[in-house]
Amino acid sequence: MSKQKAIATPNKTKEILNKYGFSFKKSLGQNFLIDVNILEKIIHYAGINKQTGTLEIGPGMGALTEQLAIHSDKVVAFEIDQRLIPILNETLQVYSNIEIVNNDILKANIKEVIESHFDSGQKIKVVANLPYYITTPILMKLLMDRLPVSSFTVMIQKEVAERMAAVPNTKSYGSLSIAIQYYTHASVVMNVPKTVFMPQPNVDSSVLHLEVRQNPPVNVLDEDFFFKLVQACFGQRRKTLRNNLVRHFASILNKEQIESFLNDVEIDGTRRGESLTMEEFASLANVFYSGLRKQ
Ligand code: SAM
Repeated sequence: MSKQKAIATPNKTKEILNKYGFSFKKSLGQNFLIDVNILEKIIHYAGINKQTGTLEIGPGMGALTEQLAIHSDKVVAFEIDQRLIPILNETLQVYSNIEIVNNDILKANIKEVIESHFDSGQKIKVVANLPYYITTPILMKLLMDRLPVSSFTVMIQKEVAERMAAVPNTKSYGSLSIAIQYYTHASVVMNVPKTVFMPQPNVDSSVLHLEVRQNPPVNVLDEDFFFKLVQACFGQRRKTLRNNLVRHFASILNKEQIESFLNDVEIDGTRRGESLTMEEFASLANVFYSGLRKQ
């Protein structure tokens, strides 16, 4: 495999744009990376090697795809924009370990694609500069599908990355932190300036690393119920836990029943949702769930 001049430079990117008369679609979150240093850092944080299979979402013109091809065993990349397919065929033609799938990641059968393109038992990692308009739906879909993926290293909007990795008693902590951390160990590994993108986005960016957990950190009787209860507890952030719960269960539980469930798990109803740990949310959800089933 011969090396070529990196795609991720301002000049090369402009050259490709001109050659194909390509215009960015804001609606598809098209902000392409034009800095190889940032790409190398992403590769470093992803912890990939020549045995790793990599899955990319939104290869764009191939800036990150190229680095993944160099540093991993094989890359499978999902790109929704048909206009980019001939461009990718040209920019990545010297690499023989890349498969481009022209499909919407939210509609694709990713499990099937993984099974048909990677060796069984091969370590697979997701590495991507995600389209910001659908960051959360993409990550939640991939996590909830419980794909055989060991980690995610993704560039996303800074504020969303902070919410996903947030700990209790911080402004960013909320139901998204619980949803992501139920499936993964989450950390923000790097903040990235707007200047490394073409065109520059309106928001700041960060690289988020998610290490997928083998097992959930807490035992919940019903996952759906747990996530809904967590959302309810953050429903109105300034309100107490008690008030949010009373509001959420208004049609099925009275205040006394709610108070008694809170007492059972020794959680003070005057606290705010943002002070509860995942373990506390789990015991709260379980006591409500069993209590309601007995009714
Ligand atoms: N990886 C390239 C880079 O870093 O230069 C491009 C990243 S750009 C932020 C996001 C890419 O995701 C674009 O190429 C866009 O067309 C693609 N995209 C947007 N929505 C998508 C979807 N639903 N499924 C697959 N790709 C999508």
